[in-house]
Amino acid sequence: MAYKLTFWGTRGSIPSPGGLTTRYGGNTPCVSVEYMDGDGRRLLVLDAGTGIRLLGNQLMERGNGEVAVDLLLSHTHWDHIQGLPFFTPLFDRSNAVRVWGPQQGDVAIETILRRQMEPMVFPVPLDGLAAKLTVEHIMEESLAIGDFEVGTIRLRHPGNTLGYRLTPTTGGSSLAYVTDNELGPGGEYEVGPGWRGDFVRFLRGVDVLVHDSMFTGKELDQHRGWGHSSYEEAVALAVEVKAKHLVLFHHRPERDDAAMDELVDAARSLGTAAEHPLEVSAAIEGTELTLDGG
Ligand SMILES: [Zn+2]
Ligand SMILES: [Zn+2]
Repeated sequence: MAYKLTFWGTRGSIPSPGGLTTRYGGNTPCVSVEYMDGDGRRLLVLDAGTGIRLLGNQLMERGNGEVAVDLLLSHTHWDHIQGLPFFTPLFDRSNAVRVWGPQQGDVAIETILRRQMEPMVFPVPLDGLAAKLTVEHIMEESLAIGDFEVGTIRLRHPGNTLGYRLTPTTGGSSLAYVTDNELGPGGEYEVGPGWRGDFVRFLRGVDVLVHDSMFTGKELDQHRGWGHSSYEEAVALAVEVKAKHLVLFHHRPERDDAAMDELVDAARSLGTAAEHPLEVSAAIEGTELTLDGG
């Protein structure tokens, strides 16, 4: 079972449209994982940033029957849920969206989604959506979703934030989606003292690692405790866990295309200098990656 990864939104924090960000993209995080099984086309989606609007439009254009989506949320910061009210399949009663993600304190995900659609800030309430929407709260566990084994781990980021590792049940290449994560010191997060070891074990041998690389090492000094990492830290992590391909993600809104090119070049040089070959690229909105599924 081969599967296809598509980057619909790659930017962190806030959409950053405009002429200076056209190549890497300005939409906030959304990545789809698509594959075929006996019942036809299946879809898992990672985060519902503003990029999910484009995915929804494509699904509706295809017009080939009901849309059933498993949506895995890393957390509920704005940039990861803001696109959901614009996900057009939600406006059709024949569609179904199952949301998976961590509860925030004692506040349910459904409550948070409802709040971002309250009449004072949005014209259509959550209950006004025609599609079937269900929510499954998860924390650190192992799940079976579609043809994937899905592992989760808590990340070093404010609130409850999860990283995901997807492995096809038929074997083949695995994918980790780890965004909004502070690899270096700083910040106080609800992870145990042995977090780094657990985290490295969780990612060991992953084929494609999509990781937060919002800052440069220099910028990071002013942003410790913000819950993000530098590209240097992301490369060091990828080397440590022996990933094959690191995809830099959650680009800083202020970083224009030319500055992104420089950052990618610098990250690639670090990857090339590593003991084992590490491919490094940056997530580019609208691009795809195909992974083999065993
Ligand atoms: Zn974010
Ligand atoms: Zn966040």
